[in-house]
Amino acid sequence: MKLTLLGSGDAFGSGGRLQTCYHVATGQDQFLIDCGATALIALSRHGMDPNAIRTIYISHLHGDHYSGLVWFLMHAYYVSRRSEPLVIAGPAGIEERVRAASEVLFPGSSGNRRRHELAFVVYRIGAPMPIGQATVTAYEVSHPSGAPSCALRIEAGGRTLAFSGDTEWVDSLVPCATGADLFIAECYGYDKPVPYHMTWKTLAPNLARLGAGRVLITHMNEHMLAHREEARAAGVLLAEDGLVVDV
Ligand SMILES: [Zn+2]
Repeated sequence: MKLTLLGSGDAFGSGGRLQTCYHVATGQDQFLIDCGATALIALSRHGMDPNAIRTIYISHLHGDHYSGLVWFLMHAYYVSRRSEPLVIAGPAGIEERVRAASEVLFPGSSGNRRRHELAFVVYRIGAPMPIGQATVTAYEVSHPSGAPSCALRIEAGGRTLAFSGDTEWVDSLVPCATGADLFIAECYGYDKPVPYHMTWKTLAPNLARLGAGRVLITHMNEHMLAHREEARAAGVLLAEDGLVVDV
C-alpha cells in the first residue's frame, strides 16, 4: 500500500499546506481518503489521473475534507469526460451535502448528466463494510459537522490504514487504530485545548494505547507546526504535502 499525502494542512492554510486529501495505491486499485478543496490541484501537481480513482472515502462533512468533490465531479464531467464508475462513501447525508455544495458553488452542476456511474455509500458505524476494493469500518468521533463525524479503518491489499478524521480524544480511536500498520492522527494543536480537535499533549500519552504499527500526525496549526520536532523525537511521523509512505 503506497500512501501519498496530497494535502496535510488544516482548514486555514497553516504552513502553506493544502487541505486534507490522501491518495492510496494498492495493486491495481487507487482511492482517496478525504477530498479537501485543493484535492484536484494536488492530483495535478503529482501527475495523478483522477479517472484512475475508483473510490473516495470521506471522514466527515466539513468543507476542508469534502468540498473538493465539487471540483472533482466537475472535472470528470467537463475535462476528463470520465466513463469509469465512481463510489463516494461517507457519513449519513453525504449525497445531499455534495449536491448542495455543488449547487452553491456552481449552480446547475448537480444536474449534469454524467457519463459515469456515481454511487454514494453511507457508513454503518462500527460495522466493517466492503466498499470499493477495501473493507472499511467507521467509528464515530467527537467533532460536530451536522452529521456523524468518523474515524476510518481501511483494510486493503493485506494492509490496514487507519485515520482519526478530525476529533478530540475519544476512546473509539483505540479499536480504530489497534493493529493498523499506520494510524494517521489529526494533531491540530500543541498544548492549548481546542474544542473537538486533538492536541499533541493529549495524543502523546495515548500513543502506546493506540496499538498501531506507526503513527503519523497531520492537520497541524501554526502552533503545533512550531513544535513538531518534539513529536518527531517521540517517534511519530510528521505529515507534509507530497510525503510518500510505504504502508
Ligand atoms: Zn473538521
